[in-house]
Amino acid sequence: MNAGGGLYVLELVLLRKVAVKIGRLGRCEFPAGAFWYVGSARRGLAARIARHTRRSKKLHWHIDYLLARARLVRVWVWPETTLSECELTERLGGERAVPRFGASDCRCPGHLLCARGRALPESLGGVGWALTSPSGRGRAQRG
Ligand SMILES: [Zn+2]
Repeated sequence: MNAGGGLYVLELVLLRKVAVKIGRLGRCEFPAGAFWYVGSARRGLAARIARHTRRSKKLHWHIDYLLARARLVRVWVWPETTLSECELTERLGGERAVPRFGASDCRCPGHLLCARGRALPESLGGVGWALTSPSGRGRAQRG
């Protein structure tokens, strides 16, 4: 990864359902299971991913609130792509876990999808990392 921008997908897992109060979204309920969150960084993609893997930080984005309760298990990145995060979310498809989640800056239905045991489509060409550290502290391995 370099200092440039791009898109990313975080796969996170909730072992049990949780209810979390998230800014303007209010109280959101998340079922147990796996989720895909689609995000973008205009620059500093690597730094953004590193931030997501850190446990202690000021909660800012919607995803910060969920990550505080979930386990981040895998990350995919698209350092150079012409797709927008909304378009990538659309291509991944599936049910939105919570309406408008992660979509403060756009008009789409939201950037958090229920993964439901699906694999990320290879045709999308993302580079994936499995996070091996149980604390999710950013030790990542290609795979
Ligand atoms: Zn969107």
